Amino acid sequence: MTETSGYDLVILGGGSGGYACALRAAELGKRVVLIEQEKVGGTCLHKGCIPTKALLHAAEVADHARNAASVGVMTSYEGIHMPAVNAYKDKVVDRLWKGLQSTLASRHVEIVYGQGRLASPTAVAVGDAVYQGEHVVLATGSEPRTLPGLRIDGDRVITSDHALRLERVPSSAIVLGGGVIGVEFASLWRSFGAEVTIVEMLPHLLPSEDESSSKLLERAFRRRGIGYHLGNGFSEVKETVTGVSVTLTDGTVLEADLLLVAVGRGPVSAGLGYEEAGVAMDRGFVLVDEYWRTSVPTISAVGDLTPGLQLAHVGFGEGIGVAERLAGLPVTPIDYDGVPRVTYSDPEVASVGITSAIAAERGIEVTEVTYPLGGNGKSVILQTQGAAKVIATAGGGSVLGVHLVGARVGELIAEAQLIYNWEAIPAEVAQLIHPHPTQSEAIGEAHLALAGKPLHFHA
Ligand SMILES: Cc1cc2nc3c(=O)[nH]c(=O)nc-3n(C[C@H](O)[C@H](O)[C@H](O)COP(=O)(O)OP(=O)(O)OC[C@H]3O[C@@H](n4cnc5c(N)ncnc54)[C@H](O)[C@@H]3O)c2cc1C
Repeated sequence: MTETSGYDLVILGGGSGGYACALRAAELGKRVVLIEQEKVGGTCLHKGCIPTKALLHAAEVADHARNAASVGVMTSYEGIHMPAVNAYKDKVVDRLWKGLQSTLASRHVEIVYGQGRLASPTAVAVGDAVYQGEHVVLATGSEPRTLPGLRIDGDRVITSDHALRLERVPSSAIVLGGGVIGVEFASLWRSFGAEVTIVEMLPHLLPSEDESSSKLLERAFRRRGIGYHLGNGFSEVKETVTGVSVTLTDGTVLEADLLLVAVGRGPVSAGLGYEEAGVAMDRGFVLVDEYWRTSVPTISAVGDLTPGLQLAHVGFGEGIGVAERLAGLPVTPIDYDGVPRVTYSDPEVASVGITSAIAAERGIEVTEVTYPLGGNGKSVILQTQGAAKVIATAGGGSVLGVHLVGARVGELIAEAQLIYNWEAIPAEVAQLIHPHPTQSEAIGEAHLALAGKPLHFHA
């Protein structure tokens, strides 16, 4: 065993949570070692956010090429050349990966490549080497889950990891799980020309979104020819000569080239020494308080490894929070309702704050306005449909939730998150002028209506 000591921070896992913590801690003058078994950047950069959004951009271009005649641009669409799509996607990932490595190097974060294991409350072992520090941050992230009776073979029954490496466009696909990942793949495969069917156990696609957003997405998917079975699970999967046959709990049998299993992601924590070091856990997730402290005083945990929203920007925020706390800076706990969520399908779905259902559950009296994008000039130009729904406390109180559906609305949620997180009231937002013609006007219009002075609005 060789031991290296003297670190302020030993971070296990170089994904969004771990590397953000490393960068901020180093910026604050801490000596940091970051231990990573694959590539810095983790799931988001290599198997998640970035490659999926590159594929979704290619999907958007395909749709534009196919529909160009609708705006008088004469072009012909000849199909998807998957090797070229993958080359574009890999180039994007590579460029960002290089950038991240050079940022880490410029802040003097020491990177150790290898599989780490928590050796004590203040040390991580990688093979024969032990890295000893004042504090350890666990950030080992998550991996795709499957269901009992469902064997992932990586060919016909796949996870998002395999889906990102496909060298062909499936002619048909069944997507098990109508959450963010399932919906994004369904959307992009449809744009690439596949027949797609989603199977979701709960009554709606994107079940954690406001029901109004889920319904708008379902309507849009129906129009795009994306099939879905809601309130239905899988009971059996069999291989066929050409692909898979999936029997649903209601007896329906679906056949396709492949089955994408997108039923959620579980924590990466088994066999890593967490329990042995006394870290309190729940079903593999590391439990933390509002400052991301575990039950062991010298150990913190961030990102997908902890219960809650599995989003890269949550990992960034938590990683920064831990670094600042350890440097003795004041830290405000995150209001997780105020974290913006985006599904990058066509149409996009974006939200911040709470849904109508959660407001009702919490016994909050609210006023709501839904502004259809049909009344928004830029959205009509873009030929997109959807809506901006704003929920505010009844009687002129602050904005509690903003829910958007439509092309490009992911970019609009940044304004909505300021409105929510600064606890703005509709009358204040109504005073602010939005540029015309932009989709952001839909947010302005909804607040004008909530403030009792609707402009372009049919009651
Ligand atoms: C298909 C897909 C699309 C997504 N799209 C989005 C999106 O658009 N926006 C968004 O915000 N989020 C998205 N996410 C979620 C996002 O990727 C995660 O929330 C984020 O990556 C979590 O960061 P993390 O640091 O907690 O974990 P990870 O990114 O999983 O990083 C954990 C790291 O730890 C390393 N590691 C694990 N065990 C060990 C060990 N024993 N020793 C050394 N290293 C180890 C892993 O190799 C990995 O690099 C998506 C996820 C998927 C799968």
